[in-house]
Formats: sequence, C-alpha cells, structure tokens
Amino acid sequence: MTDFTMAIDADGVAVITWDVQGKSMNVMSLEGFAELDALVDQALADDAVKGIVITSGKDTFAGGMDLNIIAKMKDSAGDNPAKGLFDGVMNMHGILRKIERAGMDPKTNKGGKPIAAALPGTALGIGLEIPLSTHRIFAADNPKAKIGLPEIMVGIFPGAGGTTRLSRKLGAMAASPLLLEGKLNDPKKAKAAGVVDEVVPADELLSAAKEWVLNAKDADILKPWDAKGYKMPGGAPYHPAGFMTFVGASAMVNGKTQGVYPAAKALLSAVYEGALVPFDQALKIEARWFTNVLLNPSSSAMIRSLFINKEALEKGANRPAVDDQTVKKVGVIGAGMMGAGITLVSAQAGMEVVLIDASQEAADRGKAYTEAHLDKGIARKKTTPEKKDQVLGLINATTDYNALAGCDLIIEAVFEDVSVKADVTAKVEAVVGPDCIFATNTSTLPISQLAKASKNAEQFIGIHFFSPVEKMMLVEIIKGKETGDRAVAKALDYVRQIRKTPIVVNDERFFYANRCIIPYINEGIRMVREGVEPALIENAAKLVGMPLGPLQLTDETSIDLGVKIAKATKAAMGDAYPNDAVDEVLFWMADEGRMGRKAAAGFYAYDEKGKRQGLWDGLAAKYPAADEQPDLTTVQHRLLFAQVLEAVRALEEGVLEDIREGDVGAILGWGFAPWSGGPFSWLDIMGAPYAAERCDQLTQAYGDRFACPPLLREMADKGQSFYGRFGAGKAAA
Ligand code: NAD
Repeated sequence: MTDFTMAIDADGVAVITWDVQGKSMNVMSLEGFAELDALVDQALADDAVKGIVITSGKDTFAGGMDLNIIAKMKDSAGDNPAKGLFDGVMNMHGILRKIERAGMDPKTNKGGKPIAAALPGTALGIGLEIPLSTHRIFAADNPKAKIGLPEIMVGIFPGAGGTTRLSRKLGAMAASPLLLEGKLNDPKKAKAAGVVDEVVPADELLSAAKEWVLNAKDADILKPWDAKGYKMPGGAPYHPAGFMTFVGASAMVNGKTQGVYPAAKALLSAVYEGALVPFDQALKIEARWFTNVLLNPSSSAMIRSLFINKEALEKGANRPAVDDQTVKKVGVIGAGMMGAGITLVSAQAGMEVVLIDASQEAADRGKAYTEAHLDKGIARKKTTPEKKDQVLGLINATTDYNALAGCDLIIEAVFEDVSVKADVTAKVEAVVGPDCIFATNTSTLPISQLAKASKNAEQFIGIHFFSPVEKMMLVEIIKGKETGDRAVAKALDYVRQIRKTPIVVNDERFFYANRCIIPYINEGIRMVREGVEPALIENAAKLVGMPLGPLQLTDETSIDLGVKIAKATKAAMGDAYPNDAVDEVLFWMADEGRMGRKAAAGFYAYDEKGKRQGLWDGLAAKYPAADEQPDLTTVQHRLLFAQVLEAVRALEEGVLEDIREGDVGAILGWGFAPWSGGPFSWLDIMGAPYAAERCDQLTQAYGDRFACPPLLREMADKGQSFYGRFGAGKAAA
C-alpha cells in the first residue's frame, strides 16, 4: 500500500503527495499515518532537503480519518482499551508534533525545515489537522472546497491536535463555531476565519507553497505557542475576557446538547484545561478526553449510524439488482404542502417536473413555493438568478394530465383519501407509458390497498416524505405486497438524485417512522392524564436527547391530525384499540379549540405573533398534577421504550428488514435521541437482559404496551445484541 509518495525537486523541496489508490478522496488509515511518518523522517534527515510541501494527488486534499477505523478502535485496542487508545492517539500526536517542530533545536528554536501544506480542495478532519501542524497552509481558490473539522457531527471531536491547535491559533471564541458546530468554510472564508493562511489560484498552488518554503526564516516556522510569552488570542480561562468566553461556551454547549452528547463536553474540557498548561501537556489532555469519548459507546454508535450505515444506505445497500433507474421526468400530483416541496427538491436535482393540481391557481401556488425558496436562496447568496430561472424552467404547473406523457415516475400527494387517490391513479395511468412507476406519498393508508386502483400493482410503491420536504433528510420507501424490484430501484435512484437518505420497509400500519413516533406522543399525553407534570414530561424528553417533547410535537403536527389518526386507527382496530385514555385528552383539546401551533393554542400557549410561550395553564386545571410525581428516569424510559419496542416489533414482523434502516431512519426521520445511534443501538448499549427486565417492570407498573417482544426476550436469554445478530445487512428476524 502506498498512500504517500515523495519527490525531491531540483531546489531541494520534498513534495509529499497523498493519493490513496482506488478512492476518489483521500482518507487516513493507520498504515497511511505510518507512511507519512517515515517520509517526514526521511526528508528531515536528508541534508539535500531544504523544506517540505505536503499536498494531494487529487483535486481534494482529504475527507478525514477513515471512520470505519475509529468506530472499531476500541475493539482493536487490546485488553486495556483505554491505554491502547491513549497510546495510539499519542503516537499520532507524536507524528504531527514532529512535523510542527520540523527538526528545530528545542532550546534555540532554530534550524528546523519549513513545512507547508498545499490544499487543492476539500480538507476535512485529519485532512485539516495535518495542515494545522505545518507552518503555513496554502489553499487553492476553489469555491467548492470545504475546509473544517466536522468530527462533532458524528459524535467525536478533533482528536489529532486539531482542537488544541485551532483554539490556540484563533482563540477559544473564534474557534468555537469551527470546533463545537463543525462549521465548514470555503477557502476564502477559511482564510477570513484564520484557519488557512493563503488562498492562491489553483495552478499556482504548488509553486506558491514551494516558494514560501524556500524563503521561510526560523521565525516563520516557529508556532506562536512554542515561542516565549505566548498568550491565547482572546484570553485564556483566567483572563477576564477568556473567562467570559468559557462561561458562555459552557452554558451554550449544555443548553444545546442537554448534556447528552459526551463529545461536546469533552471538547470544551480539552480546550479549557489545555489552555492552562504548555502545549505538549495540552495535547496529552486532548488525548485523554478523546480516549474518554472513544470509550463511550455513544461515539461508536453515532459513527456507525450517522456515517457508516447512512452512507451504505445512500449508496444502495438494499437496492435490488436492477439496471439504472435514474428519473428524468417526474409527475407530482397535488400541489399542496407536500407536493410543492417534492417539486422543489426534484427540480433542484435537475429533473423535469409536471406539477398537477385540480385548479391552475393551486398548481401555480405550488410552483410559487419553489420560486420563493430560490428567492430566499438568492438573498442569502446560496443560489443565483440564472440557477433560479433554470430550476423554474423545469417545472410545468398545470391541470392537464396529458402533460404527464413521458414521465418515468409519478409521486401522488393529493388529499389523504382512498377514493380521491384511486381516481388520480386511474387518470394518471390513462396517459403515462407502461413502464412508469407510480408512487404515493400517503402517510397512513396501506400501500397494498391503494395499489388496488392501479392496473399494475408491481409498479406501485410508497415514497413517504417528511415535512418540510426540503429540510428533512429521510425518505421512507414502502413496498406493497405486490411491489416489484424495479419500483424499489426507481424509488431508491430517485432518492439518490435528490440527495436524501432512503430506508425501505414493508407495508404495515403507519409503516416504520410514524409507527414508532405515535406511541411516543401517546405516552406523553397518557402521562398528562395521569397527572404527571407536563413540564416534567417535556423536559425528560429533551434531557434524553429528543429534539421536541411529546406535547410540543403534538402541537407542531396539530391536534386535529392526532384526532383524525386516532379515529381511523380505532375504526380499523375495533376492540383491540389501546388508546382510549390518550383520546380523552386529545379529543378534549380539540373540543376546546386548541388545535396546536397553527391555531396558536395547544398544549402550549402562544403569543399574538404565534410564538410559543410556556405550557398552557388550562391543562393543569383539567388534569391537576398528582401529589406523587415519577422520577426523571422513569418518565424517560416510558418515552423511549414506547418507541424502541415498536421498532423491535417492526423488526419481528418484517416491516423492517435491516436494523441499520431502523436506526438511521429513527434519527433522521423523527430525531430519535441521536447520541444513542438509534433504537437498536440504544438497546445494544443497555444490553438485552437489562432491556427485557425493564420491560417487565414497566409492564407491571403501566400496562401491556411495554410487554417484552419475544425477539428481545430471546436475545436477553441468549446474551445477544442486535448488531451482533442482525448487523450490516444480515437478514432480519
Ligand atoms: P395538502 O392538503 O396541503 O395538499 C393536497 C393538495 O392536493 C391540494 O393542493 C389539493 O388541491 C390537491 N388535490 C386534491 N385532490 C386532487 C385531485 N383529485 N387532483 C389533483 N390535485 C388534488 O396536503 P399535504 O399535507 O400536502 O398532504 C398530501 C399527501 O401527503 C397526503 O396523502 C398526506 O397524508 C401525505 N403526507 C403529508 C405529510 C404532512 O406532514 N403534511 C407528511 C407525509 C405525507
């Protein structure tokens, strides 16, 4: 394996080129690190070498560390994983510190060889941490390039010196959006932020870096933190200004993460504690905190779900082996809230869109949604007037079904009504070609039932979007009983085109996402009726990492929708319907006219501008708080078990065929506590035996809805984990 090569030019500049064979972007492996180390040693020892430029053989620099390795680092760290991890991280620090010191005399700080980084494009994670250890960072003026440290997004933090170097280079305040939010910048913005030192035309990148290397003096290559009298920009923690930064950052991190993301807290601790000691000590502190995060099961679960499995699903892990089904012309029927959003994302992806509604006015309104979105984009400099014209030019808003001729995919988003949908299906099939795939965006109606209206149930499928379409990253694809492979492939290729993440599930009531989220909402409402303090319910949810408490979520989705779903479910289930206690509260709210956010009145109170205030006090008058309140963990377990047991049942019943989809879908679809890696990862973290025991206790205290699913019981008895038994696409139950 040769990821790095070195060539010494006539002027004595050693150019180390990173070019991982067979990959479109460089990623760092442990072997790669060893190669870089050896080449740096060689260049530093060679008297003919005056300086070094580290660059890439690709049009990008690097995408980061191979996260597959990070996810498994703990398992491969030996009998004493903490020590194994810490030693591994310190070894990495040693290599980068060697680059930074570049052979200079430790006492005089003289005699080192200048080392520059030349970044042709994107440089992320370790792809920026290496440059940060060099003496000058040159970036090509490539507006598409993204430069930054996004580690926090997958549950870790920059642990190869990036945290310590960036906070010392910029100061804690300026570094905080880059470290704590993983903010990425293009080269010009990265220069303005002080992350890179020079932005030069792409064709001058290497020559500019070489020239700097050949002319750099001893003082140019001494890092400020290695010079006498270094002071952290903006002040260290005990400086009055620095003090304010750290107090604010700590409050912000805890406010945003509710304390459930170990990486954010560890990052802040590494910066704070590191700022109090000399640089080499600070690296050790960073390594300790990094080890601490890697040892936390949350980090490997997050990496697995949010990176490895998400990417596998996007790349078609569960796509049937059918030839390319790229969509060219899509028909969207129904230009309401969902149809308008679907039109926007499809046209933005370059597809021709025919947008149909019952009246021209409604169709035009649907198209205007795209226009308004693009206008906002222009105002924010995210798009251009030319691009807007181009996207709008792809949309034909009309009432004429004949315009659908030539469509290879139809997405129906009309009213949630079987007969309206059947009528639309027949009208569409009268004009489209025999190969056209028909998808419905229904959220509650069985696909197999709707497929009865189609001449070709094999080509009929569910493509379920979440609202707002342009923001929500998950798309749930639902196979009806007769749906064929080509329809699934078409839906997956379409989702790839619009750059969202797909899961593919089978057709049972509420499919997967709604099936799990409804019990969460119901459990919250049930507790209101029992006299549990609403504030306790809402805060318990947020403190365990749910983005919205169940009552706020009900307000957002509206009470009347809840009532509608409850009535339809009861009608379908008859005597087996388990949610009368929930309905009592829900129907009463509806009778009171408290329909949720859209009515500016729900479980919460809202001001005249519709801004959410505190919980509505009328709720306490109707359902007074019980004298005895449950503890926080009990409330949290009720809220989480309500969801995860439904996910397990979905797996048992074959609605889910792949637990990776269950985990990724839960986080992207309804924000299931991302720190956990998703429902199956959470159950694995706590272990099946404890989960089963908890089910028994909750069942005894609160009822049969918490009954331990047979699959979980069996796994508890056998000491199995979900990822051990079903991981990486192994066939489900
Ligand atoms: P909406 O009421 O905003 O829009 C429906 C649109 O369909 C309206 O513009 C209406 O004029 C049009 N329409 C109705 N009958 C038609 C017909 N016969 N021919 C052509 N157009 C017709 O509804 P929505 O919220 O966009 O939901 C649409 C579908 O998407 C429903 O099946 C709903 O269950 C599903 N869905 C909604 C959400 C959500 O959050 N709102 C999420 C996922 C799925």
